[in-house]
Amino acid sequence: MKTSLRGPHVLSFDILERVLPKSRTGIFALGFEDREGRFRVQSVGRDDYDLRARLCELIGSSAMFKFATHPTARQAFDHECELFHALRPPSNFIHPGRPAGTDWQCAHCLQFH
Ligand SMILES: [Zn+2]
Repeated sequence: MKTSLRGPHVLSFDILERVLPKSRTGIFALGFEDREGRFRVQSVGRDDYDLRARLCELIGSSAMFKFATHPTARQAFDHECELFHALRPPSNFIHPGRPAGTDWQCAHCLQFH
């Protein structure tokens, strides 16, 4: 995988404030640690404007999270698609969406062709 995610961290307001600046574009993986201490991804997602605010809304939905920030929404989209196809997260029922008004293609499938 070209870019690793940072974490896992406990999904709480205090931790988010400490590890993630606000108003950053990026992606996240929500999940938990299994008995062997491995991070198990349940879902992946993206926020093009404020990743921390998005994760704050998700507190309580999962125990832990990982994240990565990106300079552009396009890079975040590409990374989210890559993880979606590589991990097949059990709680992601639909393909990651692209921002309205873009013609971005997923590099891993024909979703938008
Ligand atoms: Zn795809």
